[in-house]
Amino acid sequence: MEPQPTPESKPLDFIRQIVADDLKNGKHRTIVTRFPPEPNGFLHIGHAKSICLNFGIAEETGGTCNLRFDDTNPSKEEVAYVQSIREDVSWLGFSWGERELYASDYFPQIYDFAVQLIKMGKAYVCCLSPEEMREYRGTLTEPGKDSPYRERSIEENLDLFQRMKNGEFPEGSHVLRLKIDMASPNVNMRDPVIYRILKAHHHRTGDQWVIYPMYDYTHCLSDMLEGITHSLCTLEFEDHRPLYDWVLDTLATPCHPRQIEFARLNLTYTVMSKRKLLKMVEGRYVDGWDDPRMLTISGLRRRGYTPAAIRNFCKSIGIGKSESRIDMAVLEGEIRNDLNIHAPRRMCVLDPVKVIIDNYPVGQEEMVTAQNHPQNPAMGERLLPFAREIYIERDDFLEDPPKRYHRLGPGREVRLRFAYIIRYVSHVKDATGRITEIHCTYDPETRGGSTPDGRKIKGTIHWVAAATAVPLPVRLYDRLFTAEDPEADKDINFLELINPNSKVVIEKAMAEPSLGEIEPGTRVQFERVGYFCADHVDSRPGAPVFNRIVGLKDSWEAAK
Ligand code: ATP
Ligand code: MG
Repeated sequence: MEPQPTPESKPLDFIRQIVADDLKNGKHRTIVTRFPPEPNGFLHIGHAKSICLNFGIAEETGGTCNLRFDDTNPSKEEVAYVQSIREDVSWLGFSWGERELYASDYFPQIYDFAVQLIKMGKAYVCCLSPEEMREYRGTLTEPGKDSPYRERSIEENLDLFQRMKNGEFPEGSHVLRLKIDMASPNVNMRDPVIYRILKAHHHRTGDQWVIYPMYDYTHCLSDMLEGITHSLCTLEFEDHRPLYDWVLDTLATPCHPRQIEFARLNLTYTVMSKRKLLKMVEGRYVDGWDDPRMLTISGLRRRGYTPAAIRNFCKSIGIGKSESRIDMAVLEGEIRNDLNIHAPRRMCVLDPVKVIIDNYPVGQEEMVTAQNHPQNPAMGERLLPFAREIYIERDDFLEDPPKRYHRLGPGREVRLRFAYIIRYVSHVKDATGRITEIHCTYDPETRGGSTPDGRKIKGTIHWVAAATAVPLPVRLYDRLFTAEDPEADKDINFLELINPNSKVVIEKAMAEPSLGEIEPGTRVQFERVGYFCADHVDSRPGAPVFNRIVGLKDSWEAAK
């Protein structure tokens, strides 16, 4: 099956076009891709782009996609990262079936290929120190020099490599290098190291190995062993492709995957490298890898993003060859689009001020009917208690409102959503000048918010009845960095650009009763305020903690 552009969709991206052509002209009958994370951190939104591409192509063409852990680097990897990666990929909606694979599972074959390369006279054991090695490598403009160990005999190389494997040499004393070309304009081809001695424990192979293969050499062989048809990676590997091809060509392997590079995802107001994310976690600049401000998959999940929004985002940005930085507003737009359709509406007052309705009987309570979604009656209705004392947002009342302000103020009427029209009577302040209560009257003829006499009420505000309101914490998250590109200025440490207001905690927002019972992980719209999710880590039964996923509008754009 070839991927077909549907009439309403964009044309195929350049990678899908290559895949389609390869199927059409019979180069491949089925497509095999892989997503190859290194288990040295949690996945981020950039990885989502690669996941959607690799798993997406497999899905669209009836092929398969392997989840392969690129675990060649023993000192950095942890089992917890493997677990988090599995969880994130499946949460995004992709499955790898039986094909959970590890580069470390191929260590024996990869070793045998190295022996074969030595026997072919294409690899040698080098004993230059790391400093000497750097010196011999040359620069971008000057060719390198041949290592004095380059012409060792095959027998000597075989013996030394065997002894490296047996643990006879200390770390850093010997490496195995390919014999390619020290004068190559491509530094990756200047006799790259393919094995080094590391006396480190590996999360899967334990202490079995004291030599570990390097990434470039391992990657092409892993791809080949798995029968990958298209090895998709980010642009920084373009200069490594000649090496990828050289290894497979030299070994004349029956399968030779095609490496294709695409531009990595960069987003405004964030950093993407796992190394930097780790710094933020370890330095406690954030509350862990799944901090809802982090653009990790687990952070986005905790924040309340949906897999569909992330997949739609990846689809909308497309796949290309030129590096760019996507505006965070694009990602926020996708979650808004999704939640606008799917999130039930609720009422919650973040900054409450009390309103007393003087002509409403003391002690009386009535239930008013509220729709769960303004455009979708199928989402049903609920009953909300209404009483003499209610809370409204502090900024929905102004003592001296400008003309275009349509909410509550002296002499004004406003509609309480789903309830009644109220009219201002007076307000009370404390010694500091802060308003403590507002007195109003209500019009009993306007139940449900309609005006039988046809008078126009421009403003509608949300509210909750005071006696039955549930006080709960709400965390207002905002962009984690204050700069569009926190890495732009090399003289500024990106950690200094963390937005100090990226997490603002409201201890006691006042919510309608149903919100007190909400299941952790549930997403709702607080009417007029934004989209929120009951945090699945910190919420307790009957005591939810809400995270703001995103506001209703792009307030950053508006503020520019
Ligand atoms: P980082 O630079 O964030 O540490 P990485 O490239 O070292 O990421 P890997 O675990 O090696 O992380 O990545 C797994 C796959 O995800 C690779 O194929 C890589 O090219 C891809 N990938 C990583 N970051 C991005 C990104 N920002 N956009 C698209 N693909 C990415
Ligand atoms: Mg990497």
